[in-house]
Amino acid sequence: MIGRFAAQRRGLIELLQDQGIRDLAILRAFDLVPRHEFLPEAVRHRAYEDAALPIGLAQTASQPSLQALYMELLRLQPHERVLEVGTGSGFQTAVLAQLVRNVHSVERLRPLAIRAREALDRLQISNVAILVGDGTIGWSRYAPYDAILVTAGSPTIPEPLVRQLRIGGRMIVPVGTMDSQKLMMVVRTNESYEADEVLACSFVPLLGRFGWTEREGSAD
Ligand code: SAM
Repeated sequence: MIGRFAAQRRGLIELLQDQGIRDLAILRAFDLVPRHEFLPEAVRHRAYEDAALPIGLAQTASQPSLQALYMELLRLQPHERVLEVGTGSGFQTAVLAQLVRNVHSVERLRPLAIRAREALDRLQISNVAILVGDGTIGWSRYAPYDAILVTAGSPTIPEPLVRQLRIGGRMIVPVGTMDSQKLMMVVRTNESYEADEVLACSFVPLLGRFGWTEREGSAD
C-alpha cells in the first residue's frame, strides 16, 4: 500500500541522521526501501524502529543504524561489486542494491533466502544475486569484490573472504565470541590485510567452515 508507514519511515531517516549518518546516498536508499516488506507479519508494525527484529529460524534482521554504519564505513561507490554474507531478511541487501552496481548475497538458510528473493522481486530490484550456501567460503565465481559485509559474528576473520577482496578492497566483519564481538574494518593489502576495531556489537553466529560449527552454534 503506497504511503503505508511513510511517517515512521521518515522518523527512522531522521534518527539515522541524528546518529551521525551523513552520506545522502545512504539516507536516500533507506528512504526508498520499505523495510516492512522484508519482515514477517508479526513484527511489521515495528519495521521502522531502530531495532533488530526476529525473522524466524532463530535469526534477526539487523538494527538499521548498524546497517547504515556498515555502509558509511565502507564508502561504497556506484560502480562497485559487493558480497554480503548473511542475506537474512534481505532488507540490507535491498539497500545495498540502491548504492552499488551488483550485490551478491549468500544465506545458509534456504527459507530465508527464498523469502528475501520474493521481497526483492516484488520491489523489482534486479541487481542482486542470492546463493544458498556457506558464505564463510565466499562466492568465488564473482570475485574479486570491492567490498564485503559479513552480517553474523565470526570467531576469526574468514581467510577465503580476504582472498576474494580486490587489493584495496574493504570488509566489515564482527569478530569475537558467540555472545559479543568487535566490528572489524579490514582492508586487503598486496600480501595480507590490515584490520581495525570499530565498535562492540552482538550478532547471531556465523556458522560454517570458517566460522562457528553447527554444534557450537546450537550450544546454550
Ligand atoms: N543483514 C541481515 C538482515 O538485516 O536481515 C542480517 C541477518 S542476521 C543478523 C545474519 C544472517 O547470517 C542469518 O540470516 C544467518 O542465517 C546468516 N548466516 C549465518 N552463518 C552463515 C553462513 N556461513 N553463510 C551464510 N549466511 C549465514
